[in-house]
Amino acid sequence: MTALTELSLAEAGQGLEASDFTAEELTRACIEALEGGRDLNAFITETPDIAVDRAKASDARRADGKAAGSMDGIPIAVKDLFCTEGVLTTAGSHILDGFTPAYESTVSANLKDSGAVMLGKTNLDEFAMGSANVTSYYGPVKNPWKGPGGKDMVPGGSSGGSAAAVAGGLCPGAIGTDTGGSIRQPASFTGIVGMKPTYGRCSRWGIVAFASSLDQAGPLTRTVEDAAIMLGAMAGHDAKDSTSAPIDVADFSAGLKEGVKGMKVGIPEEYTLDGMPAEIEALWQQGMDWLKGQGAECIDVSLPHTKYALPAYYIVAPAEASSNLARYDGVRYGLRVEGETLDDMYMATRALGFGDEVRRRVLIGTYVLSAGYYDAYYRQAQKVRTLIARDFREAFEQVDVLLTPTAPSAAFAIGDKMDDPVAMYLNDVFTVPASMAGLPAISVPAGLDGDGLPLGLHLIAKPFDEVTLFRSASALEEAAGFDARPPSPKGGAS
Ligand code: GLN
Repeated sequence: MTALTELSLAEAGQGLEASDFTAEELTRACIEALEGGRDLNAFITETPDIAVDRAKASDARRADGKAAGSMDGIPIAVKDLFCTEGVLTTAGSHILDGFTPAYESTVSANLKDSGAVMLGKTNLDEFAMGSANVTSYYGPVKNPWKGPGGKDMVPGGSSGGSAAAVAGGLCPGAIGTDTGGSIRQPASFTGIVGMKPTYGRCSRWGIVAFASSLDQAGPLTRTVEDAAIMLGAMAGHDAKDSTSAPIDVADFSAGLKEGVKGMKVGIPEEYTLDGMPAEIEALWQQGMDWLKGQGAECIDVSLPHTKYALPAYYIVAPAEASSNLARYDGVRYGLRVEGETLDDMYMATRALGFGDEVRRRVLIGTYVLSAGYYDAYYRQAQKVRTLIARDFREAFEQVDVLLTPTAPSAAFAIGDKMDDPVAMYLNDVFTVPASMAGLPAISVPAGLDGDGLPLGLHLIAKPFDEVTLFRSASALEEAAGFDARPPSPKGGAS
């Protein structure tokens, strides 16, 4: 029999349903994998006791014929940006030392109510700011895939711990958040599926805020079907988040087997970048051929404001971050460094509590919001954002989905790009436009580069059309047939 930890989320659900194993057995197998995979540094906090308790409760529900649905008894990991009642929540930052929320985020509560079993809280870039999972106070996460000569590579970020946990076989699914690419880019770097829903599909309540007009929760899984199942358990309107959409949760799996015959796939010309590696371009072409081979039609489209998306994002996101992070003052949460006066205390706490990248964003954000610069930067960026959204709206008058690469490169070595923030920011050049427009998007593992590292392809759909997004992603997944796996974290091939 396949090892329990190798099962997809859907397969694990079927196995539980058929009583092939219990949720407790499945959970204990994942806990063992977590312990064996500690070298990845994917978790900040492991919660094996909570996991075993929830697994036992799930087994009891199932024995009573009261299993809640396809997530009941499924072990998952939770990015340490979601507040979890009674469990340390750090956002990867020193400033939240010892913060144990008295409440549960809506998304993690929805998963809990669906019977999912939390294994622990995953590592991330500090306050979700980053593309490599190297800015965490708790140290970098290692990609389970190794670079040339066995080099340690980044898993992408900021949901790098969640991606490494799923790719490394520690759990079948995890949740992350995506502000400018933090689910999709690490999924691409680790050879798994990562999906960002439409802004407003999932509640942001109880998620430590980075950039409120961009942040969305989403699933990281090994298959497209698993992502659809997991999103079904996460999504839904929440009166506690005024930006959560009052829209019914669709059956996201509905179109998975329908194929793409007759579907129109847009290929945005502006996503061809100077200096883009030839293998990324070739994979993109291959993706078009795969979809055409299945009966879709590929149509060239233009999104003329794409080139402004990344610069505008790096005004909007830091602006909102500087405002959101003002609450960490040494009074209400976590770390406090005493000072002579109240101001000294604020300054000492924030100076010690925030890392370099967070400080950089707070400085940029404060600057672009300041009197005299607000109109030149922040208001201008918001106007650009409107134009980006309009480009997408016009493209979607012609096509059902858009196909692009997920990231301009494969995973790079830990330590690379550290002295060049702009090179680091360029990682998100393909994911940020959909974030700025609030659109649903997904990364599907599609191939390996010359060094044997995974590469993803990226699909974007209309607002709240996740069903079409998953449908096209499923066709892409089938055509790509990506079944490569990283070496087992314990050593040797899995
Ligand atoms: N890498 C981007 C940033 O650093 C996106 C991060 C995210 O999506 N949370 O802001």
